[in-house]
Amino acid sequence: VNALLVRDATLVPMDGPADDPVGHARIGCIRVRKDRIADLLPPGAAREPGEGVVDARGLVATPGFVQGHVHFCQTLFRGLADDLPLMDWLRERIWPLEAAHDARSTAASAELSLAELVRGGTTTVQVMESVHHAEESFAAAAAAGVTATLGNCLMDVPGDGVPPRLVLSAGESLRRCEALIREFHGRGRLRFALSPRFILSCSEGLARDAAALAAQHGLPVHTHAAEHPAEVSLVQARFGRSYVTALHGQGLLGPRTSLAHCVHTTDADRQVMLATGTAVLHCPSANLKLGSGIAPIAAYARAGLRIALGADGAPCNNRLSALTEARQAALLQACAAGPGAWPAARALEAATCGGARALGLENDVGSLAPGKRADILLFDLESLGLAGGGDLASRLVYAATEGDLRHVLVGGRWAVRDGELVGIDGAGVRERAEAARSALLTRAGLAR
Ligand SMILES: [Zn+2]
Repeated sequence: VNALLVRDATLVPMDGPADDPVGHARIGCIRVRKDRIADLLPPGAAREPGEGVVDARGLVATPGFVQGHVHFCQTLFRGLADDLPLMDWLRERIWPLEAAHDARSTAASAELSLAELVRGGTTTVQVMESVHHAEESFAAAAAAGVTATLGNCLMDVPGDGVPPRLVLSAGESLRRCEALIREFHGRGRLRFALSPRFILSCSEGLARDAAALAAQHGLPVHTHAAEHPAEVSLVQARFGRSYVTALHGQGLLGPRTSLAHCVHTTDADRQVMLATGTAVLHCPSANLKLGSGIAPIAAYARAGLRIALGADGAPCNNRLSALTEARQAALLQACAAGPGAWPAARALEAATCGGARALGLENDVGSLAPGKRADILLFDLESLGLAGGGDLASRLVYAATEGDLRHVLVGGRWAVRDGELVGIDGAGVRERAEAARSALLTRAGLAR
């Protein structure tokens, strides 16, 4: 039995009241049993027999980060689709590359993603995979031990520059979903999410069937919405209504649904998101890089919408860093809504307990509390660039980087120790990724 005492850290449990989520910070100890937090204790707690001790004096403990929107299958495409707006980015690069994936390259991309995510403290993640080979990503997530919600993306509308290989009939798409549900949903830390890619790539019939399947099994629904102005105009022209209300018309919204981006929403969109309890997945770096705009996150939060952060795909970021997204999100809202409108504490909340709420996982992850999964990050905030004290949320969100993250426990097990991955052979991951990437580029006809 795994038994561990994390002793005398500065705890940032993220279990404070709604108006002050960081409020309960204090020095203390965390007792871990198996994969769970058994107790939070005062400083100097005595070691129990058989218990390992982590001396965490001077370190800051937070819950593992939650990312609501990532594409493992795109991590091999990092640096291959830069400086393009959304629809060109999809047609010229991302779709041809996804169409060229095979099982091996999908697996290599997923394990590369997971190594980067875990090294950066992300221990819970929601992932939209490609049309094919999603089982490889489920297997990689299971091996990494993270809490993962994944789905094969649904695309049954041909044309618009979509490679034929990425278009599957509605019937075949749903059969694949059902097979993945049977094989992976509820196994270990895995959940399956119905994942229509976006409204232009998914027929109304398939969207309705996906919503019905989600309702039947109580599954999450994960899709993109209202990302880029050109895309929003296409949707308005095709459906004669605003983006999110069109999704609502297809039955896709609800408390288990989360929408990536929501940069350009109308009043009607926001009302229907609120009325249905739909959550927002905010991807600030991707929104900047594709020139999509700044999502009105401070306004969404004021209205009471649940918000998670996400790095989105490596080709539109180009990192998968929770800390980068938290900092970017807070800075953008300072610019768009005014300093203080959505401060560092809110960004830290979205990266932890708020993100967990957005994914419906708040009883399991997102804070340091007895009974929660022992996903624990230990930061050293005393490096030369960071020393000097001050507000903890500000230090973590505005100042800290991955280099300041010393240890990561995933479900009570060491995943990063003294800055080094444990149980993941980083060199092997890089080697497999490089080999898979060059073969993939050749298949995609993009080799140089
Ligand atoms: Zn995305």
